[in-house]
Amino acid sequence: MSGVPQQAPQKTFYLETFGCQMNVHDSEKVVGTLIQEGYRQVETVEQADLILYNTCSIRDKAEQKVFHRLADYKKLQAQGKKFGVLGCVAQQEGEKIFERAPHVSLVCGSASYNKLPEMLVQLNSVGDTAPREIPPPAGENAGVWDDAGFADSSPLIAHGSSRDSRLRTQDLVRITGLDDRQTDKCFETEFTARTNPHRGYITIIEGCDKFCAYCVVPFTRGKERSRTSDSVLAEARQMADLGYTEIQLLGQNVNSYKDSAGKRSFAELLAAIGEVPGIKRVRFTTSHPRDFGRDIVCAVDAVPTLCDHIHLPVQSGSTRILDAMQRLYTREQYLERIAWMKSAKRDLTITTDVIVGFPGETEDDFAQTLSLLDEVGYDSVFTFKYSPRPNTPAISLEDAIPDAEKARRLEVLMARQREIQIKRNKNYIGTSHEVMVEGYNDSRAQWIGRTSQNKPLNFTAATSLRAGTYAQVLGTGSFPNSLIGQLVV
Ligand code: SAM
Ligand code: SF4
Repeated sequence: MSGVPQQAPQKTFYLETFGCQMNVHDSEKVVGTLIQEGYRQVETVEQADLILYNTCSIRDKAEQKVFHRLADYKKLQAQGKKFGVLGCVAQQEGEKIFERAPHVSLVCGSASYNKLPEMLVQLNSVGDTAPREIPPPAGENAGVWDDAGFADSSPLIAHGSSRDSRLRTQDLVRITGLDDRQTDKCFETEFTARTNPHRGYITIIEGCDKFCAYCVVPFTRGKERSRTSDSVLAEARQMADLGYTEIQLLGQNVNSYKDSAGKRSFAELLAAIGEVPGIKRVRFTTSHPRDFGRDIVCAVDAVPTLCDHIHLPVQSGSTRILDAMQRLYTREQYLERIAWMKSAKRDLTITTDVIVGFPGETEDDFAQTLSLLDEVGYDSVFTFKYSPRPNTPAISLEDAIPDAEKARRLEVLMARQREIQIKRNKNYIGTSHEVMVEGYNDSRAQWIGRTSQNKPLNFTAATSLRAGTYAQVLGTGSFPNSLIGQLVV
């Protein structure tokens, strides 16, 4: 023994993120928080002491993914690794996760991330024991495991015994952060670990109060709450000082933003961020049609740094289905907002989300969605088959559409939209566009760029470029989802 105090080895974590940009950005905040707490991020589960999944429950498929991951890596518990489930599945399933995957020790919804440091201390204070074999408690049976490696829902299983060895790898630690969905606070942290040095997200509003009939978000992310516009602006200025030139404002419904200090409307906040010195591009997603005012288009007209792209999810082209979905707008009201965008001074690209196969959707309703695609001429559409979700009103609706029929409608919709995109993208040939350089694709010998309209525009250049810079590119060819071009010198 040298007598020199030994430093505890640095704890490591692995984090995998599922779902939307909000989750991606939440993960950047979680990573920053963990690093601040002395952890080091690693690339593989095998290298990690703590394995975290930031989850999505918007559709059943997304939810199942996390349980498969947990099953795949369950065996690593024997090495003393700990597992945590964060995000929407955590909030939705709560303590049931401990029953379904007893090797999980931490379950934390997004509204409780502020408490992560405390939870990590708790996790470590109990769990530093070496693996040890212990007899099962009196009266406890050995448990039954299903094929996926999960326990059945017997509460006895939730206390850590396994069929084979009854090896307990750690004292039972069950930490939950699930209680704060009614919070007024947003998850702001000074420790965000942004992954891209040029383009960064800022969450300006969290949660949702809209309760569309099909959607879990109000249940998983809690009530709607906005940051002050001053705090958003301060973060934008700080990012500009660090060299960021593109900012993307985030919210489940970003345009439902209401400055909690009452100073600026959403459109005024957009304009103010667009005027921060050093910021060249501002994007915002997702906008909700109900709260989409003409002032947003006026702001885009007035401030050149606000990007030429608006994502406005419609969900269905049939007013009857929109009503059943509780979207609280009609096809005509939606099209009025599209008309505002089309009358903008610059050519704005418009993208949307569509759900097919909502209960009761007839052939005629579906045909109206197809005709809406033609009428708007979207640049891109995110398409979803309706997936029944727990707690939502739509789960008890009759007239479910068979899965094969949902799949057929999805195919038809995607094929129609592909034709629209082929036609629209041809218009870019022979015109010049500014792109942000995102990197280089060696196999194609092309630079990767993105226009203000959010179109991928990959291009050749005789000179070497740097990621994060801007370049003028002439469109020379088009595909359904991207453009190609050459650098203008
Ligand atoms: N707040 C945005 C809005 O209202 O337009 C949407 C945010 S949601 C996280 C993203 C998309 O997921 C929705 O626009 C919808 O198309 C899709 N989605 C939500 N719930 C769904 C469900 N139960 N089944 C299929 N798609 C769903
Ligand atoms: Fe979900 Fe509707 Fe809220 Fe969008 S507005 S997050 S679809 S409940």
